[in-house]
Amino acid sequence: MSFVVAIDGPAGTGKGTVTEILSRKMHLINVDTGAMYRCVTLEMLNRKVGLQELDKITKILEEIKIELTNEKGKQFVTLNGEDVTEKIRTKEVTSLVSQVSSIREVRLAMTGLQRKMAQGKNVIMEGRDIGTYVFPGADVKIYLDANVEERAKRRFKQNQEKGIDMSYDEILANIKMRDENDKNKEIGALKVAEDAIVIDTTNKPIKQVVKEIKKIIQEKQKAQKLLEKIYSIRPETKWKRFVSKMTKGFLGGLYRLAFRVRITGNIPETGSYIICSNHINYLDAAAIVLLNKRMVYFVAKEDLFRFRLLNWLAHVFDIIPIKRNMQDMEAMKRCLKVIKSGDLLGIFPEGTRNGLEKNGKAKNGAAYMAIKTGSPVIPVGIHGTFKPFSKVYINYGEPIDLSSYKGADKEKQNEATKLIMDHIVMLTKKEN
Ligand code: C5P
Repeated sequence: MSFVVAIDGPAGTGKGTVTEILSRKMHLINVDTGAMYRCVTLEMLNRKVGLQELDKITKILEEIKIELTNEKGKQFVTLNGEDVTEKIRTKEVTSLVSQVSSIREVRLAMTGLQRKMAQGKNVIMEGRDIGTYVFPGADVKIYLDANVEERAKRRFKQNQEKGIDMSYDEILANIKMRDENDKNKEIGALKVAEDAIVIDTTNKPIKQVVKEIKKIIQEKQKAQKLLEKIYSIRPETKWKRFVSKMTKGFLGGLYRLAFRVRITGNIPETGSYIICSNHINYLDAAAIVLLNKRMVYFVAKEDLFRFRLLNWLAHVFDIIPIKRNMQDMEAMKRCLKVIKSGDLLGIFPEGTRNGLEKNGKAKNGAAYMAIKTGSPVIPVGIHGTFKPFSKVYINYGEPIDLSSYKGADKEKQNEATKLIMDHIVMLTKKEN
């Protein structure tokens, strides 16, 4: 399992410095993706290749060998065996790199390389698009920002220390040009990832920024340890079955005491089905899992398992953790295994609580699996306030056979998902 920290943001926000310190302190491999685009740019300059000469650029991409190494906390960049740590920071490279990194072929080659570099490792990767494009499922996403004059001032000071001759005005103009260019890239444009933590470093000393990010990483690492537990599937032992049965009985009893549960319809006693329900409260999945004779293997977002008690319950009830914002092949495999074993799989197609109310689009995962496996979908409509002693309605519908959708493309899958959701919505209106 790898651990990825994404540090994104425009030039001069302190990404490089912060990343270097954190990589040393937290034993993470430092990957400076900007340096990689700079290497391609330097090689183009060396070979006198222009921005329009795509054939020659492709050849460079095939031949180029970029290595990033760390020694005593300092990063060294090697291009085809030559140390270019300083050379990639010259005015010529800096002026051209943004345009080079906009070339589709360059981007695809570099992002592919970046993903490879992180495979199975713990990395801290700085760039523009790490949390949005390269690793949309990164464990920690930080977006550093600062006002442009402050950024230019910092870069000017840095350049002076390194003996790079660029005036403040030149740097300011270059940063503004790069910002604009980076924000409008076709692939991997500079933008804040939805789930990124934004830190404005304008008036913050580096030490403070490092401290804040270090804390975020540590919390995530702690949570990760708990997560690893649920990813290690425990063998089905007699003891586990006993604990599961007892816990189910106990919590099911509590549930019936806490709410006046009204159930209509049912799940057949044998056969594999995909149970698809609306999602209004964390306690709705509990109703389906606890109040059924058969075991329902529910899919739930992995963030939930950061809490010790939920983590333990996830183990007891074999809940399938799923990563958000990315295609989680591991979760998909586990779901298919449940169906193929003739068991019940539970999914919230809305993906999140009150997804439909928030005008979200239901996800195709359930329809996809039903079509792929031929397993029918049982729609469930749940409603209630979930206040103590209030009524909770759980309405099971008739199984929906999606076999006529076999070989469905994305559009047809959307249609099948809509069919499932229409049934669910209808069932949420039923009171008995
Ligand atoms: O971070 P640095 O200033 O060294 O990056 C150089 C250039 O490389 C940036 O201006 C940007 O155009 C490009 N870049 C990118 N995507 C990244 C990292 C850098 O497009 N992930």
